[in-house]
Amino acid sequence: MQTQETVLEIDLHALAHNYKFITSNISEETKVMAVVKAFGYGSDAIAVAKKLTALGVSYFAVAYAEEGVALRRAGITLPILVLHPLPAHCETIIDSCLEPAIYSKKILEDFLQTAQKKQQKNYPIHIKFNTGLNRLGFGKEDVPYLRKELPKASSLKVASLFSHLVASEDLSEKTFTQQQIKEFEALADAVSEVLSHRPWRHQSNTSAIFNYPEAHFDMVRMGIGLYGYGNSEAINEQLKPVATLKAIITQIHEVQIHETVGYNRAYTAKGNERIATLAIGHADGISRHYGKGVGSFLIHGKMAPVVGNVCMDMLMVNVTNIDCEEGDEALFFGSEQSAAALSKRAQTIPYELLTGISQRVKRVVLGA
Ligand SMILES: *Cc1c(COP(=O)(O)O)cnc(C)c1O
Repeated sequence: MQTQETVLEIDLHALAHNYKFITSNISEETKVMAVVKAFGYGSDAIAVAKKLTALGVSYFAVAYAEEGVALRRAGITLPILVLHPLPAHCETIIDSCLEPAIYSKKILEDFLQTAQKKQQKNYPIHIKFNTGLNRLGFGKEDVPYLRKELPKASSLKVASLFSHLVASEDLSEKTFTQQQIKEFEALADAVSEVLSHRPWRHQSNTSAIFNYPEAHFDMVRMGIGLYGYGNSEAINEQLKPVATLKAIITQIHEVQIHETVGYNRAYTAKGNERIATLAIGHADGISRHYGKGVGSFLIHGKMAPVVGNVCMDMLMVNVTNIDCEEGDEALFFGSEQSAAALSKRAQTIPYELLTGISQRVKRVVLGA
């Protein structure tokens, strides 16, 4: 699609393809929790969640309560896990029928108090265990506390027990990961024992779905893979990028040898060159790390390297060898230029590149 402005195209056919490919790697009984935090990894959480509802996912996950509220406002009715609820969000969570991850004594006490105040009975919560990431979750030492408190908290019901892997994409950490899986099972057993029902278990993100079938348990949490990236070249080949970022050329300058381009004269022309200005900058999510030739755009299928520093609202690319004109489109990432390869050049990961595309960039949903 030829664009007239800077857009992030969201291809829901690609999303469906990825969902089907990833689910072909799990058993039919295993449920899918689709992770749509951070605006659906920078895409469009609502469009993505609607499509995934139609495709048959069981659950959604967001990081923060407000992200869940936005899904509810858009009419999403499936259960939504809030991975990182803050004490200040307990009321909002109940008011919007969201389900909190309970990761500490403090958040359990706060949430319990709110649930009691709102006269809840069996309100679904999810107990998060720390098995090595040391980010969020209860550890071994908290098991006696959980075994004592959870059975008597009649306002709450433990819907699931879960944990998060540290390095599921890194096969050199296999021993550590297998230890994490064992540790999770032991913690989950110890808590399940004192409950009158058996909560679901989940521990796998995208990479674990492919690398650790023994960690699929009752449900998997699918994030980056849905959006077309799998933390390995072999998996990336099977997936299709959902998001395509495009800008347009707004002006072309003919510069003479030794003239400089952009702020702080960071680029000097090596000959008589054509320099195109694109309507996209670091405020749109193109980090300054992509400046000075690290990043490039595809214009009519040819690489146009970024010259000099990325500005806030614009950047310049070298189009000396490209037959192009003002108004032509320039693709940053998508199927022709992978966000995985591009982000690697800037020493980061597709997660950061995708989620960094700011809300100023218009989202255009294809295939709804
Ligand atoms: C973000 C997140 C996921 C999804 O991870 P991917 O690698 O994107 O599949 C799963 N679980 C938790 C706890 C997360 O924070």
